[in-house]
Amino acid sequence: EVRTRFAPSPTGHLHIGGARTALFNYLFAKRYSGKFILRIEDTDLERSSIESEKVIIESLRWLGIEWDEGVDVGGPYGPYRSTERVDIYKKYVDVLFEKGYAYYCYCTEEELEAQRQELLSKGQMPRYLGKCRNLTEEQKRRFEQEGRKPTVRFKVPEGVKIVVHDLVRGDVEFMSDDIGDFVIVKSDGIPTYNFAVVIDDHLMKISHVIRGEEHLSNTPRQILIYNALGFELPQFAHVSLILGKDRTKMSKRHGSTWVEQYKDQGYLKEGLINFLALLGWSPPEDREIFDMEYLIENFSLDRVSKNPAIFDIDKLNYINSQHIKLKSLDELTQMCIPYFVEAGYIKEDEAKSKFEWLKKIVKSVYEGLDYLSQIKDKVDIFFNNEIKIEEDEAKEVLKWEHVKDLINVFENKIKQMIELTPEAIRLLFKEIQKETGYKGKNLFMPIRVVLTGKTHGPELVEIIEIVGKENILKRLEFFKT
Ligand code: GLU
Repeated sequence: EVRTRFAPSPTGHLHIGGARTALFNYLFAKRYSGKFILRIEDTDLERSSIESEKVIIESLRWLGIEWDEGVDVGGPYGPYRSTERVDIYKKYVDVLFEKGYAYYCYCTEEELEAQRQELLSKGQMPRYLGKCRNLTEEQKRRFEQEGRKPTVRFKVPEGVKIVVHDLVRGDVEFMSDDIGDFVIVKSDGIPTYNFAVVIDDHLMKISHVIRGEEHLSNTPRQILIYNALGFELPQFAHVSLILGKDRTKMSKRHGSTWVEQYKDQGYLKEGLINFLALLGWSPPEDREIFDMEYLIENFSLDRVSKNPAIFDIDKLNYINSQHIKLKSLDELTQMCIPYFVEAGYIKEDEAKSKFEWLKKIVKSVYEGLDYLSQIKDKVDIFFNNEIKIEEDEAKEVLKWEHVKDLINVFENKIKQMIELTPEAIRLLFKEIQKETGYKGKNLFMPIRVVLTGKTHGPELVEIIEIVGKENILKRLEFFKT
């Protein structure tokens, strides 16, 4: 059975990279009718928090990534939070001691740092050189009396080649002599990630470990523990790093880095999922826009690239704009309401009574949106009657000789109208054209500028319909004064 897991450390928000890892694990499990597990790796007590766990869970749920087993839903291999598994880890530490693969280390931070510096100054890889490997009982007792709290280190076998058979990168070789005995239990009694992850993945029967390339160097350490305990290895797949367009590591400079930020800006989960999938994976056909269902049917690790994935915000925007167009108007309007409220265009309790009108507004602009919060700037023309003309181009238009005359005719016609339906408005323009001879740009542009302050925007007919007679007249009045 395929069993995959996403195992975030709850030390912050759900990052784009983490979301991509979660998605790939989810898709792989679903593709092969397996199980996807959410495990919280909170062994770093200082940096972990329950708030962060909540935020990560919320972001995953929002994306539509659901787990079959995990912290809040339970399952047959729980508990699913590392700190609740400490007793389980202890048993396996004992096994390693028994088998001669573990020993206590009493070195202090200062001693370790001195060793690091020495190796560095010799141009060597910093690593633990095994100082405490063969302490006598007497030496141990002396350290204990000094009040030193030991860590437990894993005894790395010498001269061994460790090969990671990676489903994305092929075989990757490591030499055990480069690794150095590493800590598996910290001095506070909590196991380290590299140890706990092996016990957890084994006991939770994880078949495929799919995670970021930044963990590739941890994998040989973990394989040594698997071997020492006689556990069968899972399959490994390390997906490449996500880089910015400038090929440096993805960071705040390249855009928002958390899923939550994208959600708040009004990116659709469909758009983000689509985009995340393309960060390293490519579909089997020439196609760019797809949904979760398509991904579940088509995802495979052999189409995951080992080249770095490039985070291109323009591409995300394009993909998201396509998903916006796939939404129903009702749904879009509902999703835009928080932005109308945020901008102060409506009050929250007006949303219901004004829904049909808001729908018209959304309809007039949604095709130009990359993400929904952009609507705030695009629709100000519908809400404010005191039109300020700031664009140079718009100012030029108002210098045209016939503007005053045209606006007068327009105002008189509007005053006579009872209902501003699109048909009636179109007819009105025809009449003005017939009576005055102004047409095309000469007819529409001055009216657009006077009504909106801008030379570009939604269809003029839509604007007039949405703004309505009363407010149109107010705007014309404002223009004249
Ligand atoms: N807790 C690790 C992290 O957040 C998970 C690594 C793994 O998937 O093994 O990076």
